[in-house]
Amino acid sequence: MGVFGGTFDPVHQGHLCTVASVRQQLDLAHVLFVPAARPRLRSVPTASATHRLEMLKRALASEPSFDVNDLELGRDGPSTTVLTLEALQYDYQETPICFILGIDAFLGLPQWHRWTELLGLAHFVVMSRPGMVLPVERPTWWVRAETTDLSIVHQRRAGSIVMVEVPPMDVAASNIRERLRAGDDISRSVPKSVIDYITEHRLYGFDF
Ligand code: ATP
Repeated sequence: MGVFGGTFDPVHQGHLCTVASVRQQLDLAHVLFVPAARPRLRSVPTASATHRLEMLKRALASEPSFDVNDLELGRDGPSTTVLTLEALQYDYQETPICFILGIDAFLGLPQWHRWTELLGLAHFVVMSRPGMVLPVERPTWWVRAETTDLSIVHQRRAGSIVMVEVPPMDVAASNIRERLRAGDDISRSVPKSVIDYITEHRLYGFDF
């Protein structure tokens, strides 16, 4: 099972196309998209949790192997991946979990809450992202866990780091919010169902 955490403020094609590629390359049965209520290391999201959740539901409605899980939204305090993975491990018992994230997010891993426990709870599947390069020297914890054998995620419950090349999607939520404020077209970067929701609820300063 894949688990894809994010702010999704809003969800965009950079999330959807890259995770679809990971799902295919790793042969994952399904992927849970887990929106963060209040990320610990980032500023407060622009859209409310309710709106971000609803946009995700609309974006994933036609994708049978993608689901939304709102467990972080019902929790008090900042959202932390370690608590999410503990809860999912409890719920899904023997199913190996692949936590999917972009290389930009992965490079900040040592700042995450209880980060040294994370690899004990899941595999980390790290997606390429335009403009991001890998460090020349990788720390020992990374080198020890990294493998090019993608089948490992079906054989072991947790503990591996897998780097995956995904189609380059030069799109970011922050850029979409800026383009919306400027009244620019976002139809190539965001699913129509999500644009309709943004328009309907006048999110991100969208004015027409
Ligand atoms: P922002 O621009 O506000 O920082 P974002 O577009 O990075 O937002 P998030 O919801 O913060 O979106 O990202 C969730 C996860 O998706 C992160 O692990 C991030 O690295 C990954 N991600 C987002 N966009 C892409 C992309 N275009 N290519 C690869 N990974 C991506």
